[in-house]
Amino acid sequence: MVTRKSRQEIEKMRRAGRVVAEVLALVESELRPGVTTGHLDELAERHIRRSGGTPSFKGYGDRRNPFPASLCISIDDEVVHGIPGSRTIRDGQIVSIDAGAIVDGWHGDAARTFVVGEPADDVRQLIDTTRLSMMAGIAAAVPGARIGDISAAIEDVAAPHGYGIVRQFVGHGIGTEMHQEPQVPNYRAGPRGMELVAGICLAIEPMLTLGSHEVAVKPDGWTVVTKDGSLAAHFEHTIAVTETGPQILTTV
Ligand code: MG
Repeated sequence: MVTRKSRQEIEKMRRAGRVVAEVLALVESELRPGVTTGHLDELAERHIRRSGGTPSFKGYGDRRNPFPASLCISIDDEVVHGIPGSRTIRDGQIVSIDAGAIVDGWHGDAARTFVVGEPADDVRQLIDTTRLSMMAGIAAAVPGARIGDISAAIEDVAAPHGYGIVRQFVGHGIGTEMHQEPQVPNYRAGPRGMELVAGICLAIEPMLTLGSHEVAVKPDGWTVVTKDGSLAAHFEHTIAVTETGPQILTTV
């Protein structure tokens, strides 16, 4: 079921979103060669808890294999859901960081791909295009439009570059749970889907690759990688559809 949030509820989500945005800024400031992904995760969890929140991702999922950390950190050909740990970040890598926080029962969810050092031109373009496709998707999230208009806007930015548009993972409704209805594909998935009305909150999150759209899950049960080993980028914001247009909630 798709829930519409009241203005007050959107303000609560904005508080969670601010914590998430702060976490991404904090992690960016610490991202350099030699740092471990586990260290970044510790910083993130500390900031979330100090802000009165709880990490959305920690303990998420199947009870037999819950996600063990507060951030998803996905490097190079890893698309999403990489597990932080003892791994050290190296110069030249691209690092996708996804953060989620619950504050007073409401979720915020956002992600960005960072480069460590100087990226090659094609890698820079992949990252820029992924961010721009997200922004195009956000701009399409207006009352009266449909979910499929968001999908089409994302695809229209990504497709001319020939990038793989990951299909197996999609954006989603968000609120008192991290994942709610509706799903928000990053490509034209068929019917245009439900109509958007004020109060609908969505996480819009394109994942693009330099190769094919096909992905696989590693034996850890979480880390999603491109099947062809190509590099991948991921951007995400939590937004609210309002009468005056889309509002990004995961911002400071
Ligand atoms: Mg998400």
